[in-house]
Amino acid sequence: MIDVKTIRKDFLIFQNNPDLVFLDNASTTQKPQSVIDTLSHYYENYNANIHRGIYQIAEKATAAYEKTRDNVKEFIGAKDRRSIVFTKGTTESINLVANSWGGENLKPGDEVLITEMEHHSNIIPWQLICKRTGANLKYIPINEDGSLDLSDPEKYFTINTKIVCVIHQSNVFGTINPIAEIVKLAHEVGALVLVDGAQSTPHHKVNVSELNCDFFAFSGHKMLGPTGVGVLYAKPELLEAMHPFLGGGEMIRKVTMEESTWNDIPWKFEAGTPNIAQVIGLGSAIDYINKIGRENITEYETELLKYAQEKLQSIPGINIYGTVKDKGAVFSFNVENIHPHDVAHILDTYGIAIRAGHHCAQPIMKKLNIAATNRASFYIYNTLGEIDQLVNGLIKTVELFN
Ligand code: PMP
Repeated sequence: MIDVKTIRKDFLIFQNNPDLVFLDNASTTQKPQSVIDTLSHYYENYNANIHRGIYQIAEKATAAYEKTRDNVKEFIGAKDRRSIVFTKGTTESINLVANSWGGENLKPGDEVLITEMEHHSNIIPWQLICKRTGANLKYIPINEDGSLDLSDPEKYFTINTKIVCVIHQSNVFGTINPIAEIVKLAHEVGALVLVDGAQSTPHHKVNVSELNCDFFAFSGHKMLGPTGVGVLYAKPELLEAMHPFLGGGEMIRKVTMEESTWNDIPWKFEAGTPNIAQVIGLGSAIDYINKIGRENITEYETELLKYAQEKLQSIPGINIYGTVKDKGAVFSFNVENIHPHDVAHILDTYGIAIRAGHHCAQPIMKKLNIAATNRASFYIYNTLGEIDQLVNGLIKTVELFN
């Protein structure tokens, strides 16, 4: 089990902001000292560009960067290190697939199947590529409780479906979607599957080989790592067949004035100087998570989830969105007659940081017929006491408005 008191000591932000109750972890997480130290250590001791220099610090930087690739491979259960492409984040990873794979493989009449639960970063790239290629974008609907409506799969998974792109854990509802079932349905009609793992990877054990998905995307900053780094996992044969996304240095084998050939995968998809420090920092974040143990993280967050669920439900006028059993520690809610921005603003005066807005998921808001929600999302350093503070803050907010 997690010793949250000890964990909090690793996060200087809480010592520097003693009144801060940080409950916006679905947006980004805080960084442990070991990650911050890893970044400083790189810049102070072996800052150099990678893959090119033949001097010692460049070789050290290259080795640290490539070590993170092995680290990520193990972390998500990939079989082959060539499957791990470093990107700027989930958004870039999905854009890479939409452009490189979609740009080559989609044609008029083809269907891209996504869900009404997607983050904008798993909607817009597909809207753009569908417009460019003439493919159609279809949506699996959601139910009131925040689950996917998979009751009529033949309606959505058809011979025209070429790729299914689905969020693993909803950033609004917390719903954990049945990826293995979706992969099976998609593969039966010959479609590929891309999983947006931005919200699942930080909190649960992820195994891309067991899920058998074709693409998997996630971001470092939502799992204790630095901003500006993320991962695209892809089956190697898909990466081999795909055209490059960005062109430039590093991704080439031979360049002539007329044409060029490409580097091996994964470097074919890592044009230019990558986010070296951030990649190395991501490796450190993975080490930290591994040290705690992902089963322990899930177990602790389940405790937070249950406690918060019980406490939040007791607040008069509260409406919680996303009530499925299989969910992560994320709560979207509204308080009757109080605008979410007012709620978040008042809570901020008590030092409680939550999110208010559409959470980059406007189709969900449309479905629920609301403009915005409040969202509290938890991570390993949050405590039951902080949930009490949130609940007390909400009760005071309700009193203020009545
Ligand atoms: N997908 C989901 C489910 C998310 O929650 C987010 C971030 N809020 C993203 C994608 C985009 O991640 P990033 O901004 O790190 O690219």
